[in-house]
Amino acid sequence: MEVLERIDAVQRRCEDLRLAGKTLGLVPTMGFLHEGHLELMRIAKRHADVVIVSIFVNPAQFGPAEDFETYPRDRSGDLEKARNVGVDIAFLPSVREMYPDGYQTKVTVDKLTKHLCGLSRPTHFDGVTTVVAKLFNITKPHIAVFGQKDYQQLTVISRMARDLNMHLDIVGVPTFREPDGLAMSSRNTHLSPEQRRSALCLKKSLDLARHLVENGERRAQKVKKAVEDLILSHPHTAIDYVTLCDPVTLEDVETLEAETLLALAVKVGKTRLIDNCLMGGTLNTQDILT
Ligand code: AMP
Repeated sequence: MEVLERIDAVQRRCEDLRLAGKTLGLVPTMGFLHEGHLELMRIAKRHADVVIVSIFVNPAQFGPAEDFETYPRDRSGDLEKARNVGVDIAFLPSVREMYPDGYQTKVTVDKLTKHLCGLSRPTHFDGVTTVVAKLFNITKPHIAVFGQKDYQQLTVISRMARDLNMHLDIVGVPTFREPDGLAMSSRNTHLSPEQRRSALCLKKSLDLARHLVENGERRAQKVKKAVEDLILSHPHTAIDYVTLCDPVTLEDVETLEAETLLALAVKVGKTRLIDNCLMGGTLNTQDILT
């Protein structure tokens, strides 16, 4: 595996590979890699000849009171994991390399970013779309792979790629979970054993909501209330949002008439966790990408 830190080196390498007829797959990450990330890399390998993984804790997507400084980092562990799954190129730029003096450009997706995480993290998605657009320009991949755990991010990036005529396919990968159901996340490392137990309320509440809907409940308010009650019955939890919305526009729904996204953001102690599921329909991931 090649480990590159300079943008021009990655650009040259990717250009050579493209000219040699290879297809390129990109997996953007913030590192502290877990099995969910590694699954994205395995899927990228199935879709492309060469897999590039970026590891960059992107300051632009953290708000001033958020956890940029304390976000977990493990450069050598990450490189070993990426090497073991057969990644070809690891790109680990510095903040200065990505945002040199004088940097002043942003990419903004409008409506989709106003919902869900965008309400409490108003600058987050500009940071995400800007860094992902830069990574797309640097590597010019044929495909890029993202997790459905960050459902809104996946829809926002798909929208950006379409709107800006970025010539690549966005592949969405189902959420990878711990055996007890907790969605894997780099931030799980911050949970104490007791908080780790409480954090199971996210997945449990998704399962409860699914059960209610499968048994005929169609009122979003009822489902939302049941989910909130279950979450708040666990210690150390504070709800950021529980939202039932249209899986394409992310606009709130009142009645579950078609496939609906249930998305959650919950603080467990100081750690903000997200999870989601689709309920009550036949939509598959490809539909949200087109
Ligand atoms: P992050 O390092 O948290 O920015 O995540 C990098 C990529 O991995 C994003 O596309 C995430 O959606 C994806 N990802 C993170 N956690 C999971 C998970 N548990 N299952 C699947 N994909 C994930």
